[in-house]
Amino acid sequence: MKVVKFGGSSLADAGQIKKVKNIMELDEDRRVVVVSAPGKRHSKDEKVTDLLIALGTSIQMNQMDETVYKKIIDRFQSMTEELELSFRVVEQVKDKIDEAMQLVKDGSEHAFDALKACGEDGSAHIVSAYLQKTGTKASYVNPKEAGILVRDQPGGALVLEESFEKLYSLRHRNEILVIPGFFGYTPEGELVTFSRGGSDITGSIVAAGLKADLYENFTDVDSVYCVNPMFVDQPKQLTSLTYREMRELSYAGFSVFHDEALIPAFKEKIPVCIKNTNNPAAPGTMIVADLPERESHVVGIASDDGFLNLYVSKYLMNREIGFGRRLLQILEDEEVSFEHAPSGIDDMSVVIREHHLPPEKEEKVIKRIKEELEVDTVLIEREMAMIMIVGEGMNQTIGIASRAAAAFRDAEVNIEMINQGSSEVSMMFGVKSSGLGKAVQSLYRTFFE
Ligand code: ASP
Repeated sequence: MKVVKFGGSSLADAGQIKKVKNIMELDEDRRVVVVSAPGKRHSKDEKVTDLLIALGTSIQMNQMDETVYKKIIDRFQSMTEELELSFRVVEQVKDKIDEAMQLVKDGSEHAFDALKACGEDGSAHIVSAYLQKTGTKASYVNPKEAGILVRDQPGGALVLEESFEKLYSLRHRNEILVIPGFFGYTPEGELVTFSRGGSDITGSIVAAGLKADLYENFTDVDSVYCVNPMFVDQPKQLTSLTYREMRELSYAGFSVFHDEALIPAFKEKIPVCIKNTNNPAAPGTMIVADLPERESHVVGIASDDGFLNLYVSKYLMNREIGFGRRLLQILEDEEVSFEHAPSGIDDMSVVIREHHLPPEKEEKVIKRIKEELEVDTVLIEREMAMIMIVGEGMNQTIGIASRAAAAFRDAEVNIEMINQGSSEVSMMFGVKSSGLGKAVQSLYRTFFE
Protein backbone atom coordinates (compact mmCIF):
# COMPACT_ATOMS: atom_id res chain seq x y z
CA MET A 1 0.00 0.00 0.00
CA LYS A 2 1.03 3.59 -0.61
CA VAL A 3 0.52 6.72 1.44
CA VAL A 4 0.29 9.79 -0.76
CA LYS A 5 0.78 13.38 0.31
CA PHE A 6 -0.19 16.40 -1.77
CA GLY A 7 1.37 19.80 -1.13
CA GLY A 8 -0.32 23.20 -1.22
CA SER A 9 0.16 23.89 -4.93
CA SER A 10 -1.52 20.53 -5.68
CA LEU A 11 -4.62 21.72 -3.82
CA ALA A 12 -4.61 25.35 -4.84
CA ASP A 13 -7.87 25.25 -6.83
CA ALA A 14 -10.57 22.97 -8.23
CA GLY A 15 -8.49 22.08 -11.29
CA GLN A 16 -5.65 20.83 -9.09
CA ILE A 17 -8.06 18.80 -6.94
CA LYS A 18 -9.26 17.06 -10.08
CA LYS A 19 -5.65 16.07 -10.77
CA VAL A 20 -5.38 14.72 -7.22
CA LYS A 21 -8.44 12.54 -7.84
CA ASN A 22 -6.98 11.22 -11.12
CA ILE A 23 -3.68 10.38 -9.47
CA MET A 24 -5.47 8.52 -6.68
CA GLU A 25 -7.53 6.55 -9.22
CA LEU A 26 -4.51 5.60 -11.29
CA ASP A 27 -3.15 3.19 -8.71
CA GLU A 28 -5.32 1.21 -6.34
CA ASP A 29 -2.44 0.85 -3.88
CA ARG A 30 -2.83 4.56 -3.09
CA ARG A 31 -5.04 4.09 -0.07
CA VAL A 32 -4.30 6.99 2.22
CA VAL A 33 -3.98 10.61 1.22
CA VAL A 34 -2.57 13.41 3.38
CA VAL A 35 -3.30 16.96 2.26
CA SER A 36 -1.85 20.44 2.78
CA ALA A 37 -3.84 23.66 2.88
CA PRO A 38 -4.56 25.32 -0.48
CA GLY A 39 -1.35 26.97 -1.65
CA LYS A 40 -0.60 29.62 -4.26
CA ARG A 41 -2.44 29.51 -7.61
CA HIS A 42 0.19 31.80 -9.17
CA SER A 43 3.35 33.48 -7.95
CA LYS A 44 1.60 36.56 -6.56
CA ASP A 45 -1.14 34.60 -4.79
CA GLU A 46 -1.38 33.95 -1.04
CA LYS A 47 -1.30 30.61 0.76
CA VAL A 48 -4.34 29.88 2.89
CA THR A 49 -2.11 29.15 5.90
CA ASP A 50 -0.54 32.61 5.60
CA LEU A 51 -4.02 34.14 5.41
CA LEU A 52 -5.10 32.22 8.52
CA ILE A 53 -2.03 33.45 10.38
CA ALA A 54 -2.77 37.04 9.32
CA LEU A 55 -6.37 36.60 10.45
CA GLY A 56 -5.33 35.20 13.84
CA THR A 57 -2.86 38.03 14.37
CA SER A 58 -5.50 40.64 13.57
CA ILE A 59 -7.89 39.06 16.09
CA GLN A 60 -5.22 39.03 18.76
CA MET A 61 -4.76 42.75 18.18
CA ASN A 62 -8.50 43.26 18.53
CA GLN A 63 -8.78 44.39 14.92
CA MET A 64 -10.21 41.42 13.10
CA ASP A 65 -9.37 41.73 9.42
CA GLU A 66 -12.64 41.13 7.56
CA THR A 67 -10.96 41.25 4.14
CA VAL A 68 -8.63 38.41 5.03
CA TYR A 69 -11.52 36.41 6.49
CA LYS A 70 -13.49 36.87 3.28
CA LYS A 71 -10.50 35.85 1.15
CA ILE A 72 -10.18 32.58 3.07
CA ILE A 73 -13.86 31.70 2.84
CA ASP A 74 -13.92 32.65 -0.86
CA ARG A 75 -11.03 30.30 -1.60
CA PHE A 76 -12.93 27.35 -0.17
CA GLN A 77 -16.23 28.44 -1.61
CA SER A 78 -14.99 28.81 -5.18
CA MET A 79 -13.44 25.34 -5.01
CA THR A 80 -16.57 23.66 -3.72
CA GLU A 81 -18.71 25.46 -6.30
CA GLU A 82 -16.46 24.54 -9.18
CA LEU A 83 -16.34 20.94 -8.03
CA GLU A 84 -20.12 21.03 -7.66
CA LEU A 85 -20.07 19.84 -4.07
CA SER A 86 -22.92 20.25 -1.63
CA PHE A 87 -23.01 23.68 0.08
CA ARG A 88 -22.71 21.75 3.36
CA VAL A 89 -19.02 21.13 2.68
CA VAL A 90 -18.13 24.80 2.70
CA GLU A 91 -20.47 25.40 5.64
CA GLN A 92 -18.57 22.77 7.60
CA VAL A 93 -15.22 24.41 6.75
CA LYS A 94 -16.58 27.84 7.66
CA ASP A 95 -17.96 26.59 10.99
CA LYS A 96 -14.55 25.25 11.98
CA ILE A 97 -12.85 28.54 11.07
CA ASP A 98 -15.45 30.52 13.05
CA GLU A 99 -15.04 28.21 16.03
CA ALA A 100 -11.24 28.59 15.99
CA MET A 101 -11.57 32.38 15.63
CA GLN A 102 -13.73 32.46 18.74
CA LEU A 103 -11.04 30.53 20.63
CA VAL A 104 -8.42 33.07 19.52
CA LYS A 105 -10.70 35.87 20.73
CA ASP A 106 -11.06 34.14 24.09
CA GLY A 107 -7.27 33.97 24.26
CA SER A 108 -7.05 30.22 24.82
CA GLU A 109 -3.54 28.84 24.64
CA HIS A 110 -3.88 26.47 21.67
CA ALA A 111 -6.28 28.65 19.70
CA PHE A 112 -3.77 29.94 17.18
CA ASP A 113 -2.78 26.42 16.19
CA ALA A 114 -6.44 25.46 15.85
CA LEU A 115 -6.94 28.35 13.44
CA LYS A 116 -3.77 27.60 11.43
CA ALA A 117 -4.92 23.99 11.00
CA CYS A 118 -8.18 25.03 9.31
CA GLY A 119 -6.48 25.17 5.89
CA GLU A 120 -5.49 21.50 5.90
CA ASP A 121 -8.76 20.52 7.52
CA GLY A 122 -10.73 22.31 4.80
CA SER A 123 -8.67 20.68 2.03
CA ALA A 124 -9.32 17.24 3.53
CA HIS A 125 -13.08 17.79 3.70
CA ILE A 126 -13.16 18.99 0.09
CA VAL A 127 -10.98 16.17 -1.29
CA SER A 128 -12.96 13.45 0.49
CA ALA A 129 -16.28 14.96 -0.62
CA TYR A 130 -15.04 15.17 -4.21
CA LEU A 131 -13.79 11.57 -4.21
CA GLN A 132 -17.16 10.43 -2.86
CA LYS A 133 -19.04 12.48 -5.43
CA THR A 134 -17.07 10.96 -8.29
CA GLY A 135 -17.80 7.43 -7.10
CA THR A 136 -14.79 6.53 -4.97
CA LYS A 137 -15.33 5.18 -1.49
CA ALA A 138 -13.55 7.73 0.70
CA SER A 139 -13.70 9.22 4.20
CA TYR A 140 -12.28 12.24 5.97
CA VAL A 141 -10.25 11.09 8.98
CA ASN A 142 -9.31 13.61 11.64
CA PRO A 143 -5.76 13.21 13.05
CA LYS A 144 -7.32 12.60 16.48
CA GLU A 145 -9.29 9.67 15.15
CA ALA A 146 -6.22 8.48 13.24
CA GLY A 147 -4.22 8.54 16.48
CA ILE A 148 -1.59 11.20 15.69
CA LEU A 149 -0.46 12.11 19.18
CA VAL A 150 2.09 14.86 19.69
CA ARG A 151 4.04 16.65 22.39
CA ASP A 152 2.52 19.92 23.52
CA GLN A 153 4.73 22.41 21.66
CA PRO A 154 2.45 24.84 19.81
CA GLY A 155 3.75 25.48 16.30
CA GLY A 156 6.48 22.87 16.72
CA ALA A 157 4.78 19.59 17.62
CA LEU A 158 6.83 16.40 17.89
CA VAL A 159 5.19 13.04 17.36
CA LEU A 160 4.79 10.63 20.29
CA GLU A 161 5.78 6.99 19.84
CA GLU A 162 2.36 5.63 20.76
CA SER A 163 0.90 7.18 17.58
CA PHE A 164 2.36 4.52 15.33
CA GLU A 165 0.54 1.55 16.80
CA LYS A 166 -2.81 3.30 16.69
CA LEU A 167 -2.26 4.36 13.09
CA TYR A 168 -1.64 0.76 12.07
CA SER A 169 -5.28 -0.09 12.72
CA LEU A 170 -6.26 2.20 9.81
CA ARG A 171 -4.79 -0.41 7.47
CA HIS A 172 -7.92 -2.48 7.77
CA ARG A 173 -10.24 0.19 6.42
CA ASN A 174 -11.44 -0.61 2.99
CA GLU A 175 -11.71 2.86 1.44
CA ILE A 176 -9.51 5.85 0.68
CA LEU A 177 -8.75 7.77 3.84
CA VAL A 178 -8.19 11.50 3.58
CA ILE A 179 -6.20 12.94 6.48
CA PRO A 180 -5.41 16.64 6.92
CA GLY A 181 -1.68 17.22 7.34
CA PHE A 182 0.18 19.67 9.62
CA PHE A 183 -1.35 18.85 13.02
CA GLY A 184 -1.91 16.29 15.72
CA TYR A 185 -3.34 16.23 19.23
CA THR A 186 -1.76 16.12 22.66
CA PRO A 187 -2.78 13.21 24.91
CA GLU A 188 -5.00 15.80 26.68
CA GLY A 189 -6.80 16.43 23.39
CA GLU A 190 -5.38 19.84 22.39
CA LEU A 191 -4.71 20.51 18.71
CA VAL A 192 -1.04 21.35 18.03
CA THR A 193 0.55 22.08 14.64
CA PHE A 194 3.94 20.97 13.38
CA SER A 195 6.39 23.60 12.15
CA ARG A 196 5.63 25.34 8.83
CA GLY A 197 5.47 23.00 5.88
CA GLY A 198 4.63 20.23 8.33
CA SER A 199 2.16 18.28 6.20
CA ASP A 200 5.21 16.37 4.91
CA ILE A 201 5.75 15.29 8.52
CA THR A 202 2.18 14.01 8.84
CA GLY A 203 2.59 12.04 5.61
CA SER A 204 5.74 10.43 6.90
CA ILE A 205 4.19 9.58 10.29
CA VAL A 206 1.15 8.04 8.61
CA ALA A 207 3.33 6.05 6.18
CA ALA A 208 5.42 4.76 9.10
CA GLY A 209 2.39 3.94 11.25
CA LEU A 210 0.69 2.05 8.44
CA LYS A 211 3.95 0.36 7.45
CA ALA A 212 3.31 1.46 3.88
CA ASP A 213 5.45 0.13 1.03
CA LEU A 214 5.95 3.64 -0.33
CA TYR A 215 5.40 7.24 0.74
CA GLU A 216 4.69 9.36 -2.33
CA ASN A 217 5.09 13.09 -1.85
CA PHE A 218 3.46 15.06 -4.66
CA THR A 219 4.67 18.59 -5.24
CA ASP A 220 5.15 20.85 -8.27
CA VAL A 221 8.56 19.81 -9.58
CA ASP A 222 9.50 16.70 -11.57
CA SER A 223 12.26 15.76 -9.18
CA VAL A 224 14.75 17.04 -6.66
CA TYR A 225 17.50 18.99 -8.37
CA CYS A 226 21.14 18.73 -7.37
CA VAL A 227 21.28 22.47 -6.76
CA ASN A 228 18.79 25.29 -6.27
CA PRO A 229 17.50 26.18 -9.78
CA MET A 230 17.57 29.81 -8.67
CA PHE A 231 21.35 29.72 -9.11
CA VAL A 232 21.82 27.31 -11.99
CA ASP A 233 19.69 27.05 -15.11
CA GLN A 234 18.22 23.55 -15.57
CA PRO A 235 20.40 21.74 -13.09
CA LYS A 236 20.80 17.98 -13.05
CA GLN A 237 17.81 16.04 -11.73
CA LEU A 238 18.38 13.47 -9.02
CA THR A 239 16.79 10.10 -9.58
CA SER A 240 17.79 8.71 -6.19
CA LEU A 241 19.13 9.85 -2.85
CA THR A 242 19.69 8.29 0.56
CA TYR A 243 17.74 9.49 3.60
CA ARG A 244 20.89 11.01 5.05
CA GLU A 245 21.63 12.96 1.89
CA MET A 246 18.08 14.26 1.68
CA ARG A 247 18.16 15.26 5.35
CA GLU A 248 21.33 17.30 4.80
CA LEU A 249 20.06 18.85 1.59
CA SER A 250 16.66 19.82 2.94
CA TYR A 251 18.24 21.27 6.05
CA ALA A 252 20.09 23.80 3.94
CA GLY A 253 17.66 25.17 1.45
CA PHE A 254 16.12 22.24 -0.44
CA SER A 255 12.58 23.27 0.39
CA VAL A 256 11.05 20.47 -1.64
CA PHE A 257 10.80 18.24 1.44
CA HIS A 258 10.57 19.21 5.12
CA ASP A 259 13.79 18.33 6.93
CA GLU A 260 11.95 16.81 9.91
CA ALA A 261 9.78 14.62 7.71
CA LEU A 262 12.31 11.92 6.95
CA ILE A 263 12.79 10.44 10.38
CA PRO A 264 9.53 8.44 10.72
CA ALA A 265 9.88 6.98 7.19
CA PHE A 266 13.57 6.33 7.77
CA LYS A 267 12.96 4.39 11.00
CA GLU A 268 10.57 2.05 9.20
CA LYS A 269 12.76 2.01 6.07
CA ILE A 270 9.88 3.18 3.89
CA PRO A 271 11.09 4.59 0.58
CA VAL A 272 9.94 8.12 -0.21
CA CYS A 273 9.23 9.23 -3.77
CA ILE A 274 9.02 12.94 -4.64
CA LYS A 275 6.69 13.39 -7.61
CA ASN A 276 4.96 16.11 -9.63
CA THR A 277 1.17 16.49 -9.52
CA ASN A 278 1.32 18.37 -12.82
CA ASN A 279 3.38 15.63 -14.49
CA PRO A 280 2.69 12.39 -12.63
CA ALA A 281 4.26 10.27 -15.37
CA ALA A 282 7.74 11.64 -14.55
CA PRO A 283 9.59 9.09 -12.39
CA GLY A 284 10.48 11.59 -9.64
CA THR A 285 13.21 11.20 -7.02
CA MET A 286 13.42 8.09 -4.83
CA ILE A 287 14.80 8.44 -1.30
CA VAL A 288 15.97 5.15 0.17
CA ALA A 289 18.18 3.76 2.95
CA ASP A 290 21.13 2.60 0.85
CA LEU A 291 22.32 3.02 -2.67
CA PRO A 292 25.04 1.27 -4.62
CA GLU A 293 28.20 3.24 -5.35
CA ARG A 294 27.44 6.12 -7.73
CA GLU A 295 29.55 7.83 -10.33
CA SER A 296 29.62 11.18 -8.58
CA HIS A 297 30.68 11.46 -4.95
CA VAL A 298 28.92 14.77 -4.48
CA VAL A 299 25.21 14.40 -5.18
CA GLY A 300 23.96 17.85 -4.27
CA ILE A 301 24.88 21.37 -3.30
CA ALA A 302 22.62 22.93 -0.70
CA SER A 303 22.74 26.53 0.38
CA ASP A 304 20.86 28.87 2.62
CA ASP A 305 21.43 32.38 3.88
CA GLY A 306 20.13 34.28 6.87
CA PHE A 307 22.79 33.05 9.30
CA LEU A 308 25.00 34.95 11.70
CA ASN A 309 28.29 34.08 13.27
CA LEU A 310 28.78 34.76 16.97
CA TYR A 311 32.54 34.91 17.33
CA VAL A 312 34.22 34.67 20.71
CA SER A 313 37.94 34.64 21.47
CA LYS A 314 39.89 34.39 24.68
CA TYR A 315 43.56 33.71 25.16
CA LEU A 316 44.11 30.20 26.60
CA MET A 317 40.51 29.21 25.96
CA ASN A 318 41.76 25.68 25.33
CA ARG A 319 42.89 25.43 28.97
CA GLU A 320 39.68 26.70 30.49
CA ILE A 321 37.50 23.79 31.46
CA GLY A 322 33.80 24.33 30.80
CA PHE A 323 34.18 27.41 28.57
CA GLY A 324 32.16 25.96 25.69
CA ARG A 325 29.45 24.71 28.00
CA ARG A 326 29.10 28.10 29.69
CA LEU A 327 28.92 29.88 26.33
CA LEU A 328 26.22 27.54 25.09
CA GLN A 329 24.47 27.77 28.48
CA ILE A 330 24.00 31.51 27.92
CA LEU A 331 22.34 30.74 24.59
CA GLU A 332 20.18 28.10 26.23
CA ASP A 333 19.09 30.51 28.98
CA GLU A 334 18.09 33.05 26.36
CA GLU A 335 16.33 30.36 24.30
CA VAL A 336 18.54 30.73 21.25
CA SER A 337 19.11 27.54 19.27
CA PHE A 338 22.37 27.19 17.39
CA GLU A 339 23.27 25.30 14.23
CA HIS A 340 27.03 24.70 14.21
CA ALA A 341 29.91 25.50 16.51
CA PRO A 342 33.32 25.23 14.82
CA SER A 343 36.19 26.13 17.15
CA GLY A 344 39.89 27.01 17.20
CA ILE A 345 42.43 26.95 20.02
CA ASP A 346 41.53 30.31 21.49
CA ASP A 347 38.29 31.02 19.70
CA MET A 348 34.89 29.61 18.99
CA SER A 349 32.23 30.49 16.45
CA VAL A 350 28.59 29.74 16.96
CA VAL A 351 26.47 29.79 13.85
CA ILE A 352 22.88 30.83 14.49
CA ARG A 353 19.93 31.50 12.19
CA GLU A 354 19.51 35.29 12.24
CA HIS A 355 15.85 35.19 13.22
CA HIS A 356 16.75 33.23 16.36
CA LEU A 357 18.79 36.15 17.66
CA PRO A 358 16.84 39.38 17.18
CA PRO A 359 18.58 42.65 18.24
CA GLU A 360 17.01 42.78 21.75
CA LYS A 361 18.29 39.30 22.55
CA GLU A 362 21.62 40.03 20.88
CA GLU A 363 22.38 42.87 23.28
CA LYS A 364 21.67 40.72 26.32
CA VAL A 365 23.67 37.74 25.01
CA ILE A 366 26.71 39.91 24.22
CA LYS A 367 26.57 41.57 27.64
CA ARG A 368 26.41 38.24 29.44
CA ILE A 369 29.27 36.75 27.36
CA LYS A 370 31.47 39.75 28.16
CA GLU A 371 30.69 39.77 31.87
CA GLU A 372 30.44 36.09 32.66
CA LEU A 373 33.13 34.65 30.38
CA GLU A 374 35.56 37.59 30.47
CA VAL A 375 36.44 37.12 26.80
CA ASP A 376 38.93 39.19 24.79
CA THR A 377 36.64 39.59 21.79
CA VAL A 378 33.00 38.99 21.09
CA LEU A 379 31.43 40.06 17.86
CA ILE A 380 28.55 39.23 15.63
CA GLU A 381 28.81 38.97 11.89
CA ARG A 382 25.43 39.00 10.17
CA GLU A 383 24.47 38.25 6.55
CA MET A 384 26.25 34.95 6.41
CA ALA A 385 25.35 32.05 4.13
CA MET A 386 26.07 28.36 4.49
CA ILE A 387 26.86 26.14 1.53
CA MET A 388 26.92 22.38 1.87
CA ILE A 389 28.17 19.79 -0.53
CA VAL A 390 26.46 16.50 0.20
CA GLY A 391 27.03 12.88 -0.76
CA GLU A 392 27.51 9.56 1.02
CA GLY A 393 30.32 8.76 -1.42
CA MET A 394 32.46 11.64 -0.14
CA ASN A 395 33.38 9.42 2.74
CA GLN A 396 36.88 8.07 2.08
CA THR A 397 37.22 9.87 -1.25
CA ILE A 398 40.41 11.82 -1.42
CA GLY A 399 40.45 15.34 -2.81
CA ILE A 400 36.85 16.51 -2.41
CA ALA A 401 37.76 19.37 -0.07
CA SER A 402 40.56 20.46 -2.33
CA ARG A 403 38.28 20.59 -5.38
CA ALA A 404 35.68 22.51 -3.38
CA ALA A 405 38.27 24.99 -2.14
CA ALA A 406 39.45 25.54 -5.71
CA ALA A 407 35.85 26.26 -6.73
CA PHE A 408 35.64 28.99 -4.07
CA ARG A 409 38.96 30.39 -5.24
CA ASP A 410 37.78 30.46 -8.87
CA ALA A 411 34.64 32.32 -7.80
CA GLU A 412 36.80 34.71 -5.74
CA VAL A 413 34.72 34.05 -2.67
CA ASN A 414 36.43 33.91 0.69
CA ILE A 415 35.64 30.88 2.86
CA GLU A 416 34.93 32.24 6.34
CA MET A 417 34.43 28.89 7.96
CA ILE A 418 34.60 25.16 7.22
CA ASN A 419 32.79 22.44 9.14
CA GLN A 420 32.72 18.73 8.53
CA GLY A 421 31.35 16.12 10.86
CA SER A 422 33.06 12.76 11.03
CA SER A 423 30.11 11.14 9.25
CA GLU A 424 31.42 12.88 6.14
CA VAL A 425 28.04 12.93 4.44
CA SER A 426 28.38 16.68 4.06
CA MET A 427 30.95 19.44 4.15
CA MET A 428 29.84 22.91 5.09
CA PHE A 429 31.33 26.25 4.10
CA GLY A 430 30.40 29.60 5.60
CA VAL A 431 30.64 32.62 3.27
CA LYS A 432 29.33 36.17 3.17
CA SER A 433 25.80 36.20 1.69
CA SER A 434 26.97 38.45 -1.14
CA GLY A 435 29.21 35.65 -2.48
CA LEU A 436 26.60 32.89 -2.28
CA GLY A 437 25.40 32.75 -5.89
CA LYS A 438 28.90 32.91 -7.39
CA ALA A 439 30.22 30.21 -5.07
CA VAL A 440 27.33 27.81 -5.71
CA GLN A 441 27.68 28.22 -9.48
CA SER A 442 31.39 27.54 -9.28
CA LEU A 443 30.83 24.43 -7.14
CA TYR A 444 28.24 23.22 -9.66
CA ARG A 445 30.75 23.57 -12.49
CA THR A 446 33.34 21.68 -10.47
CA PHE A 447 31.23 18.73 -9.41
CA PHE A 448 28.51 18.42 -12.06
CA GLU A 449 29.78 19.66 -15.40
N1 ASP B 1 0.03 24.64 5.32
C1 ASP B 1 1.17 24.54 6.17
C2 ASP B 1 2.18 25.61 5.79
O1 ASP B 1 1.97 26.36 4.85
C3 ASP B 1 1.75 23.18 6.17
C4 ASP B 1 2.07 22.57 4.81
O2 ASP B 1 1.64 23.09 3.79
O3 ASP B 1 2.78 21.57 4.77
O4 ASP B 1 3.18 25.72 6.44
